[in-house]
Amino acid sequence: MKAYIEDAEQVLLHTYRRYQIVLEKGEGVYLYDTKGKKYLDFCAGIAVFALGYQNQEYNQALKNQIDSLIHTSNYFYNLPIIEAAKQLTKVAQMDRVFFTNSGTEAIEGAIKTARKYAYLKDGKKDHEIIALEHSFHGRTMGALSVTGNPKYREAFEPMIGNIKFAKMNDFESVASLVNEKTCAILLEPVQGEGGIHPAQKEFLVKIRELCDKKDILLIFDEIQCGMGRWGSMFAWQSYGVKPDIMTAAKALGCGIPVGAFLMTERVASSSLVPGDHGTTYGGNPLAGAAIKKVLDLFEANHIIENVNSVGSYLKEQLDLLAEKYHIISERRGEGLMQGLEFKVPVAPYINRALDKGLIIINGGERVLRFLPPLIIERHHVDEMIAILSACLEEEEREE
Ligand SMILES: *Cc1c(COP(=O)(O)O)cnc(C)c1O
Repeated sequence: MKAYIEDAEQVLLHTYRRYQIVLEKGEGVYLYDTKGKKYLDFCAGIAVFALGYQNQEYNQALKNQIDSLIHTSNYFYNLPIIEAAKQLTKVAQMDRVFFTNSGTEAIEGAIKTARKYAYLKDGKKDHEIIALEHSFHGRTMGALSVTGNPKYREAFEPMIGNIKFAKMNDFESVASLVNEKTCAILLEPVQGEGGIHPAQKEFLVKIRELCDKKDILLIFDEIQCGMGRWGSMFAWQSYGVKPDIMTAAKALGCGIPVGAFLMTERVASSSLVPGDHGTTYGGNPLAGAAIKKVLDLFEANHIIENVNSVGSYLKEQLDLLAEKYHIISERRGEGLMQGLEFKVPVAPYINRALDKGLIIINGGERVLRFLPPLIIERHHVDEMIAILSACLEEEEREE
């Protein structure tokens, strides 16, 4: 494994501090490295592999699509993407969708849509967007501009401009930034990367009312919390607060790189028109086949029900852990998107867990993030808890 890693470090750009593991294959909720060591996966490729590895129906659908047509360009229609669009708009309760290749591109599209909508209304070119502190929306320039983490932005300034940051769950901090230039308020209903910080319902309800009153577009980034992870198809459906535009990615393709931004007809009919936006790959037949199969399997395998039942079990078990170990200050989250906040950096715990065959990631310096495949069962939770408890014991002993 060491030789592979040395090779990699010669040629890959140094933009990640990777764990010293080379993964080779997956099976269900387990991953295997090149030495054959088995890992229970509580990361799912960062909230991507909802259906687990080697789902035979998913794999077969992709193989079939590869044998008929992988790509065509958006100059033409193709069958898989029509089907995928029908199914996705239905479960997302949105009217129209644009397919992208990633989450960050979905955010770019959402921002362009909001600016165009406002531009058509008043003809001005200085519209503002309000985003939240500690948010994460992606790494391209537009998405980075609305990402509320100065550390990610600083070296790449200037950003796109006219972006303001408010505080999560502080309605006054949002309202005080609104003026006649505000075209959109953008937020994650549950901040993922920022450390599993859910919005309070009251906060979203008030923002929705404000947006309605001032004709400001409400954009929800559902890239991480969407696709079942929060216990409903999209997190906003649990909150009962509907956005005007929403983004999806990560689990949408379950491994095939896809994203999407969706909107209501009201927004679609007065924003982007032919020539305003495009992509070479976005929504190609292979992507369409993946999305369609993922949505089919979500329904056939009752994924949402599983998230709710195993999610509440995970919650109980994490609560017990938080009670037992004083180093843990809080448990947060719902469904299969939960976090444990520690009083200390969590890196040593992650490394110990990897040694013991558990893949788990952080969300910020002090939060362990639990984002398993959505097909996990209770016994997998037990297995994870056993390993994590052992890590906590060891770390405690060594202090
Ligand atoms: C991961 C993520 C993104 C960026 O998606 P990419 O596919 O990595 O570009 C944007 N928003 C949220 C909430 C995310 O979790």
